[in-house]
Amino acid sequence: PKVSADHVILPPATIGMVGGGQLGRMFAIAAASMGYEVVVFCAAENEPAAQVAHRCVFGRLDNADAVTRFAKQCDVITLEFENLSAEMIAKCSEFAPTYPSANVLATAQDRLIEKTTLRDASVPVTPFAEVSDADSLIAASQTLGWPVIVKTARSGYDGKGQQRVSTQSDAASVPWESADSWIVEKCIEFDREVSVVVARTVDGRTKCFPVFENDHCNHILDVTTVPANVSPELEKRALEVAVSVAQTLDVVGLICVEMFVLDDGVLMVNEVAPRPHNSGHLSIEAMEVSQFQQQVRAVCGLNLGSTDLIGGGAAMANLLGDLWGDDGVSPDWNAALSVPGVHLHLYGKQTAKKGRKMGHLTATADTVGEAKRRVEMARNALA
Ligand code: ADP
Ligand code: MG
Repeated sequence: PKVSADHVILPPATIGMVGGGQLGRMFAIAAASMGYEVVVFCAAENEPAAQVAHRCVFGRLDNADAVTRFAKQCDVITLEFENLSAEMIAKCSEFAPTYPSANVLATAQDRLIEKTTLRDASVPVTPFAEVSDADSLIAASQTLGWPVIVKTARSGYDGKGQQRVSTQSDAASVPWESADSWIVEKCIEFDREVSVVVARTVDGRTKCFPVFENDHCNHILDVTTVPANVSPELEKRALEVAVSVAQTLDVVGLICVEMFVLDDGVLMVNEVAPRPHNSGHLSIEAMEVSQFQQQVRAVCGLNLGSTDLIGGGAAMANLLGDLWGDDGVSPDWNAALSVPGVHLHLYGKQTAKKGRKMGHLTATADTVGEAKRRVEMARNALA
């Protein structure tokens, strides 16, 4: 039987993946390696996950017939991005358990709801306020203090939909008409940025990955390293915060908690994503179980795997479309592979655009410093 007496979903059950991006692609590869079949729901056959799925159902997220055709084939359903409607999740749930739930998504889709929910649960978050125009921004900044970061409450990613505002006179430069709802946050002078990916099963078991340290460039993740350069005490606290976020939101599957670390060791949650995360990509080579295998285990109710680091350290560098020439000529991947310990991941995206995540490199080494040096050397060899 595909579902055991204790509701564990065993191979060769079929897992549905909503979304055709790189997170869905790496999930599908992990699930297939464990003997599951993966059906991907996405828009077109050239999408990254569709290229590696057993089967696909193509359609728009609001197409109830297509969603039904997809969900009917699945023993369990999960996803790779949080901007799904409650109706879509409800439709999926008619046919198979769907993780994470519509409630989790509703919270994670909206920065205001997310931060309010976490603050109410005593999780430390960046100071914030709801704003809607220049006047309310100026009023909020009296309390927060300039500079601030203004973000659209919904559907921003990779820094899109956000801008730093430094003075009262700049408050009018925000394109207020372009979104329905806005959040303003204190601009945090952090010492470093970290993230914790935690897996949680339907019966409440949890398992964290070690703290990842993240360097951003133009608000887009650039390099992740592990182990993070934080004290054992801070490492422990960051994992505790992540678990409390997973429990507060009642997540099943994965959730990534992005945090700022301040000079004095204070932690503040920046945002959460209830799915695999770019900062967890190095777990494919660096940890005993990758974040994608762990997502499979979590949504199927299996035993969660060890997240111990294999070896001394690892580093991941994103490959953005900027690396492609103006004529669209792709870089010489073999040059990156001349560096020892380096692994290449490309997502199969058809067109390279500036700022678009096309792939990543991971390097492993005896120390995190050496891993970072290797991954940067490999990426520089492409430029
Ligand atoms: P996205 O959904 O685009 O990842 P984030 O809120 O994570 O949105 O912002 C992207 C990056 O911008 C963060 O990782 C951080 O480097 C910077 N940033 C965002 N909010 C703040 C803030 N309140 N203070 C300082 N830096 C911030
Ligand atoms: Mg982020």
